Amino acid sequence: MAVLEQLTSQQAIELENKYGAHNYHPLPVVLSKGEGVHVWDVEGKKYYDFLSAYSAVNQGHCHPKIVNAMVTQAQQLTLTSRAFYNDMLGKYEKYATDLFGFDKLLPMNTGAEAVETALKLCRKWAYEKKGLSENEAEIVVCENNFHGRTTTIISFSNDPVARKNFGPFTNGFVKIEYDNLTALEEVLASNKNIAGFMAEPIQGEAGVYVPSEGYLARAKALCEKYNVLFIADEVQTGIARTGKLLAVDHENVKPDILILGKALSGGAYPVSAVLANNEIMDVIKPGNHGSTFGGNPVAAAVAIAALEVVKEENLADKAETLGQLFRAEMNKFIETSSVATLVRGKGLLNAVVINDTEDSDTAWNICMRLRDNGLLAKPTHGNIIRFAPPLVMTKEQLLECVTIITTTLKEFEK
Ligand SMILES: *Cc1c(COP(=O)(O)O)cnc(C)c1O
Repeated sequence: MAVLEQLTSQQAIELENKYGAHNYHPLPVVLSKGEGVHVWDVEGKKYYDFLSAYSAVNQGHCHPKIVNAMVTQAQQLTLTSRAFYNDMLGKYEKYATDLFGFDKLLPMNTGAEAVETALKLCRKWAYEKKGLSENEAEIVVCENNFHGRTTTIISFSNDPVARKNFGPFTNGFVKIEYDNLTALEEVLASNKNIAGFMAEPIQGEAGVYVPSEGYLARAKALCEKYNVLFIADEVQTGIARTGKLLAVDHENVKPDILILGKALSGGAYPVSAVLANNEIMDVIKPGNHGSTFGGNPVAAAVAIAALEVVKEENLADKAETLGQLFRAEMNKFIETSSVATLVRGKGLLNAVVINDTEDSDTAWNICMRLRDNGLLAKPTHGNIIRFAPPLVMTKEQLLECVTIITTTLKEFEK
């Protein structure tokens, strides 16, 4: 078969199965086009996208402003490496630091790389500013976290599937229960070697767990009390997804280190970043850390455009309003449903809990039926389905999607 021949879905799936590593278990749908809140498969069937590439496509698929920025920059200059300056990176760094309120930004590509960067930054700060003895620093993380897939990051995951047979692991992490301030204070008070506390403002991959109101603000206050850096992993929750530019904005919390990725590029290109103020970021000196592609001019141009779209199209407000509507409509349905038991979330990061055991395939089967009915979503951790459409959705579209979802769920009533 010629490489550029148009494949059927079946052919595309067979190729991936045969020639690609099996590190994912995709829903069987083969997409070849996206625009706004919609994607199309190779047979031309149209779907609402309720995953948004794990919240990377908050601005909608192939947003013309972002694509235009990418194409224009790609025709001008794509990569210099940081061995030289380029004329886009500084503009982007100024734009993003102004927008998020930090002194400096360190550009990387993927979310996991940005998390790694934040951990290195936190440790170096602990030795050089806080005065911990070398190799003694520990970082507090939460149970059921998801921060990416590198060896160090999975070292403090408690997902057996993500960890099994990937050891030995990186030391220096203490795990506590999420949304538990007592546990946090206990570890901070008893362990003098704590350098930082890293958390997701909402645990996305774990199943969209929203912590108690005030958790983030109190956790930040505890970190201040014990001179520990509060590191917010906003790779999934950031960039308007939860109804504010950042999820920490709901509690007016300013992290010491902010981690961004995913929708920082509107899903057009891998762009991630770590932001911090000078007293932290200035511990990083030439040669300490880097990335060949991090801060490349295409990434810079794309990220500026992606952030401008968030502002110009009021995506945070849209996420807030549409999210409330979604949960209200789903709650009405759940009152009469035996298959869906709960809807939870913030803004347009929501999950519906399916009434079945953790290891059942009901959530998967519902997602297959949703696909048949023109809406794409994916189960997270067993019996939970995440619903996170692009934020550029209209109210009418959202209500149409609620109908698709509730009609589909009804087909599973026992
Ligand atoms: C997706 C995600 C990451 C990892 O990002 P990659 O780009 O896949 O490496 C890290 N943290 C959170 C909270 C995420 O949702």
